[in-house]
Amino acid sequence: MYDLTQDYESSVFNEKVMKERLPSKVYVSLTNSIKNRTPLDADNADIIAKAMCEWASEKGATHFTHWFQPLTGITAEKHESFINFHGNKELVLEFSGKELIKGEPDASSFPSGGIRATFEARGYTAWDPTSPAFVKNHVLYIPTVFCSYGGEALDKKTPLLRSMQALSKQGSRILKLFGEKGDTGIIANCGAEQEYFLIDDSVYDERPDLIYAGRTLFGSPPPKGQELEDHYFGAIKPRVAEFMQDLDETLWALGIPSRTRHNEVAPAQHELAAIYETANIATDHNQLIMETLKSVAAKHGLVCLINEKPFAGVNGNGKHCNWSISTVKGDNLLNPGKTPSENARFLLFLSAVIKAVDLHQDLLRISVATAANDHRLGVAEAPPAIISIFLGEELTEVLDAIKTDGKVAKKDGAKMNIGVDVLPGIPKDTTDRNRTSPFAFTGNKFEFRMVGSSLSIAGPLFILNTIVADVLEEFATKLEKAKDLNKAVASIVKETILAHERIIFNGNNYADEWVKEAKARGLLNLKSTPEALPLFVKPENIAIFERHGVLTKTEAISRTELHLEAYVKILTIEALAMLDLANKAIAPAVISYAAEIAAAIGAKKAAGASYSAVLEKDLLARISKLSEALSKDIAVLQAALAGAKEGEDSAKHAKYYRDKVITAMDKLRATVDALELIVDEGYWPLPSYGEILFSVK
Ligand code: ADP
Ligand code: MG
Repeated sequence: MYDLTQDYESSVFNEKVMKERLPSKVYVSLTNSIKNRTPLDADNADIIAKAMCEWASEKGATHFTHWFQPLTGITAEKHESFINFHGNKELVLEFSGKELIKGEPDASSFPSGGIRATFEARGYTAWDPTSPAFVKNHVLYIPTVFCSYGGEALDKKTPLLRSMQALSKQGSRILKLFGEKGDTGIIANCGAEQEYFLIDDSVYDERPDLIYAGRTLFGSPPPKGQELEDHYFGAIKPRVAEFMQDLDETLWALGIPSRTRHNEVAPAQHELAAIYETANIATDHNQLIMETLKSVAAKHGLVCLINEKPFAGVNGNGKHCNWSISTVKGDNLLNPGKTPSENARFLLFLSAVIKAVDLHQDLLRISVATAANDHRLGVAEAPPAIISIFLGEELTEVLDAIKTDGKVAKKDGAKMNIGVDVLPGIPKDTTDRNRTSPFAFTGNKFEFRMVGSSLSIAGPLFILNTIVADVLEEFATKLEKAKDLNKAVASIVKETILAHERIIFNGNNYADEWVKEAKARGLLNLKSTPEALPLFVKPENIAIFERHGVLTKTEAISRTELHLEAYVKILTIEALAMLDLANKAIAPAVISYAAEIAAAIGAKKAAGASYSAVLEKDLLARISKLSEALSKDIAVLQAALAGAKEGEDSAKHAKYYRDKVITAMDKLRATVDALELIVDEGYWPLPSYGEILFSVK
C-alpha cells in the first residue's frame, strides 16, 4: 500500500535528515547560514558533503550533479560519480565539501547574450543551500546558481535570489515601523498552477511540427473541440488517472507538494497545482514538475505538451503564478487581518503592489514575453497584453472610500480611518470572481495569469519582487521620517490610489472595449515580444535593477539580447519545419491526390460521355487553386527567411521576423489547413487535430 505520509520527501535531504545525520553543531551552523543567507565554513562543508553522500548512496545514488537553471529556461546537469580510488586500487565513494560548494562546468555552450567571450568560457556553479538537495534517478541533485568567470549571473536563479533579498530588506524596514520584533525579514511566496496537454505518443511521432516546435504548425480545427465545455473538470480517463497518480507520487517523493489535478477546458488538456512555497523553492519545484510531467508521460506511452499554444484555435497553456509576501513567521502581508494595525499594514503593502504594477507594466509584460506566449495573450482565452489589476468590488469600495475621504462608498457613509478602523470583510475565493484579469487579487495573494506554461517562473517572480521592493523602499524612507505612523500611512495609501487607480480594472479584460479604454487610460499594450523586450533596458529599468542589486547593466543588456535572439531562433525553427513539411509531405500528397482525381475524370470520360464528373472536376478545380496558393506561399515564406539580415540590430531583426516571417507562416498555414479539409485523409500525411486531441482513450 502506498503511504503518502511515509513517502513524502523521501528523496529529499531535508531538515529532518540533516538533523539526524549531521553533528548538532554543524546542523545548527547550516540552518543558521540558510536562514541568514551567510556563507558556510569549509570544514562544515566537508562534513555535510560526507553525510549527503552516505544518505544519497543509501537511496541508490551513484552520482552527484550541480543542478542549475541557465537562460535557456530549462535546467542543466552534468553528472559525476562518487567513485574514487585510494592507495592500491581501493574503491571508495567520495564527495567533498569543495565539490558540494562549487562546480566549474564548461559554460561555453550556454547562452550568455554576449557577456562571455569564448576565451573565458568557464562558468561557476555555487551551492544554494536555501533549496534542498534531492535524489532522482540515482543522482544526488545539488541546487546551484550559475555565473560567469567575471561573476555575472548566467542563470534564472541568481536574480531571483537577489530580488528576494532586496524585497526582504525593504519590507523589513516597514515591518519594524509596525513594531515587528525579532527577524523582520519578509518572504516572497509562489504557488504555480501548471497547464499541459497529454497525447498518445503514436500520433506525436507522426507530427514533425510537434517534435521540432512543440506545437502544431498546421492543422484545421476538428468538428468537435472545446465548444461543449464537457472536458473542464470532467471525469478523468483511467489512463490519464494512472499517469496522474504516478506523477504525483514521483513529485511527492521529491518533496513537491502537488495538490490539485483536473481536466482543463480543451480536450486532452489538464492542470496541476502545487501548494505554494518560498519563491525560490517554488521555482525549482516548478522546473521539476515540468520535467517530471514529460518523463512520467513517456513511461505511460504519452507525450506531455507544455508549449503555450500547441493547437491554434484551441485554448493554450498558461501558468498562473499566485504570489504573496509574508513575514518570516508566516503572517501573510496581503491578508487584511483582524486589527486596525494589521489593516493599515495590509493597505500599505497593497498600495505598494498597485504602484509597482502601474509604474512597471512594461517589466511585467516583458517577464512573460516569448514567441510562444504571443500566440496566447489576447485571444480570448488569456488576458490581453495589457497589464491591469483586479481588486474586486469590496476592496475597490474600500479604496474609493479612502480616496474620497469617506464621502462615498463605505456603506454606512462613514470615513475610512486607516490605523483606526477595521476593514469590512473581503471575501476570499468568491466563486464568481473575475478570471479574465492578468493580475488578480484573490483575497490574500495576487494571481499573475499572463505567465506562459513553459516559462520558468523565476522571471516573473524576480520582476515582481524587484518592483515591489523599489516602491517599499520609497515608502519606508517616507515613513521612517514621519511623526505619526498612521497618518503617514493613510496619506501614502491615498496618494497612491489617486495616482495609480488607472491600473485597477474589475471588468472583462477579454472585451474589445477594454482595449480601447485601456488606451484612453494610457496603459501600455505591448502586443508582441519584439515590441516589449527592448524596453527592458530603458535607463529607468536598469536603474531599478542596479539600485536593488538584482541585475547589473551588462546583465540586463545581455538578457535582452539573448531573449530577442531566442525569439528569432524559435521562429526560424518553426518556419523551416513548416517549409520542410509543406515541400516534402504536403505538396506531394496534394499532387498525388490531384493526379488521382484527374485520372478518375479521364476514366469516366473513357467509360462514356453520359457519366457526370461534376464532383471530380469541382474538387480538382478547388485543389488546383489551393495548390497554386501553396506554391506561392512556400515561395513567400522562403523569401521572407532569406531576406532576414543577420547582424542587424537585434530588436529590428526580431521585428522583421514578426512582420514578415510570421505573416508568411500564417498565410501558408491557412492554405494548408484549407487543403486538409478537402484532401482524401488517406493521402494526408499528418494526423488531424481530432486524431491528436482525442488520441488518449
Ligand atoms: P484557484 O486559483 O484555482 O481557485 P487556489 O486559489 O486555491 O486555486 O490556489 C491556487 C494556487 O494558489 C495554489 O498553488 C495555492 O497553493 C496558491 N496559494 C494559496 N494561497 C497562497 C498564498 N498566500 N501565496 C501564494 N500562493 C498561494
Ligand atoms: Mg487560480
